[in-house]
Amino acid sequence: MKTIYETAVEKWGHEAQFNQTKEELAELIQALCKYEKYKTPEWRENVIEEIFDVQVMIEQIKVMLNISPDEMNNMTLQKMPKLEKAVGWQ
Ligand SMILES: [Mg+2]
Repeated sequence: MKTIYETAVEKWGHEAQFNQTKEELAELIQALCKYEKYKTPEWRENVIEEIFDVQVMIEQIKVMLNISPDEMNNMTLQKMPKLEKAVGWQ
């Protein structure tokens, strides 16, 4: 069975979904800027909404580029030690 992300990519196509991804990323950036400036519960809620939108688009990017869970796990294994070192965990 297809995932909802595969269905979205099929329905709207690669070009539209790449553009949508960039729009959603820009919306998240804007929400973060507004939250930093005003620190209201409304802007916090907006950040949550935009994080969700970006997560949905990231899943579609994975579909469009055939990025497998294994590839993401490999990247986690590569990158996480660097982060752990940077924050002083190791
Ligand atoms: Mg949005």
